[in-house]
Amino acid sequence: MPARPVHLPPNRFRPGCPGRARAGCPRRRPRRIRRRCAAAPRPSRYGWWLSWWILLECRAASNTVRCRHRDGRNRSRRRRERRMAGGQFVRGDEVARVRCEEARIRNSASARRYQMTSVEMRGDASAGPGTVRRFRAELPALLADIERLVCCESPSTDLAAVARGADAVAAVGGALLGVAPERIVLSGRTHLRWRFGSPARVLVLGHHDTVWPVGSVRTHPFAVRDGKLYGPGCFDMKAGLALALRAVAALPDRSGVTILVTGDEELGAPSSRELIVDTARGCAAVLVAEPAAGTALKIVRKGVSHYRIRVRGRAAHAGLEPERGVNATVELAHQIGVVAALGDAAVGTSVTPTLMSAGTAANTVPAEASCAVDVRAATVAEQDRVDAAMRGLRPLLDGAELEVLGGPNRPPLAAESSRELFGRAQRLGAALGIGPITGAAVGGGSDGNLTAGIGIPTLDGLGACGDGAHADHEHVLIDELPGRAALFHVLLEELLGVSESTSIQKGRTT
Ligand SMILES: [Zn+2]
Repeated sequence: MPARPVHLPPNRFRPGCPGRARAGCPRRRPRRIRRRCAAAPRPSRYGWWLSWWILLECRAASNTVRCRHRDGRNRSRRRRERRMAGGQFVRGDEVARVRCEEARIRNSASARRYQMTSVEMRGDASAGPGTVRRFRAELPALLADIERLVCCESPSTDLAAVARGADAVAAVGGALLGVAPERIVLSGRTHLRWRFGSPARVLVLGHHDTVWPVGSVRTHPFAVRDGKLYGPGCFDMKAGLALALRAVAALPDRSGVTILVTGDEELGAPSSRELIVDTARGCAAVLVAEPAAGTALKIVRKGVSHYRIRVRGRAAHAGLEPERGVNATVELAHQIGVVAALGDAAVGTSVTPTLMSAGTAANTVPAEASCAVDVRAATVAEQDRVDAAMRGLRPLLDGAELEVLGGPNRPPLAAESSRELFGRAQRLGAALGIGPITGAAVGGGSDGNLTAGIGIPTLDGLGACGDGAHADHEHVLIDELPGRAALFHVLLEELLGVSESTSIQKGRTT
């Protein structure tokens, strides 16, 4: 029986048709649709033949997407789709694609709970250009992905948890990209890499480890309320990871893209440093899915150095013969004063003594003491100056020994490294209609510093907008997610040169 449209009032039977309400993507469930439609009550006054009309009309109403795929010549159904798209003249293919995606999301059990949130957030979805609208339609599925990642806790220091976090990312990414990643285990830490074609031209860089210990999801549960998404590590950077994977998945051609998701960024990349540098080498650009600074991209990051000062003295009874000891705590206190004075706020250099420990008992002259020092510098020259000064520290007390461990961990991400990519992002953001894209200089380092340090153009902060990284109020602004996914996507398209009929141009025509 051909599925032809009939000329009944179009809304007469659709609202009551359980098949339509539950249809989802009709490609996937045509049999169920037919059974349910046939079971609809027959209006007796029209006779038996009307039941065929009901059946045909229900099929026609629920099969528009299938017909779109099968038969591009059916103009009446194209017109109907345009009407359904809010009265605007919308390209039939785009409507079909969006509706098919929405139906797929409706059918996803994990995404169903976000339907109300999605509608609340959506606003006037048809007002934005096509690419943003496309990612807005995927918002419920994106939220479901983020929930899955956030609820799989992955503190950097817990190797088993990091491995589980990698499994979650592999599952989410594998479902979106259709291919499993390489699992790269270095010093017990699990990293993931997807490579599409060779040579790699664009590296999408992120991390799946967090600073939140296992159990944080009980004290800071995943939640969506008041337009914000909460949960340990949601902002830094599981939401960014989910949107970056989705941005890559939407590319018409992924050749030249490599995605690297590391498991030790929060520790300063002790095991993944070489992997990051080797993977980035030869790429034309690195896009880092770290969280934005509020809503601004991170165009300058300071370089980071980590030191540990160790002092060895001599233990003695603090009451009986303190003069026979060499007090490591006192020696360390002298050194801390010297170290703290190395900072230079005028050029953006901070030298901050942080964790400190000393001694073994309250009535013993401490034989050992140590202190961690965190250094941030805007230029390599400043980083080197502080490094030389740290190496030049000498003990002040007779008998004390001093040892300085560590050194520069990440070079600065200078403005020159991000300038060209940031210009592109601003231009593409304006074309997408997602408001002015701003840039910020921040003190925190990321793995983007490593790629910028070897001269690869790097743009950071392309992940989620929000606030409170590593803090109790960590959250993501949900309404910004579709725009950021769209920006990530069109940046990739342009860098890969697969945008001859770019999504932005599609958006303009809609
Ligand atoms: Zn991060």
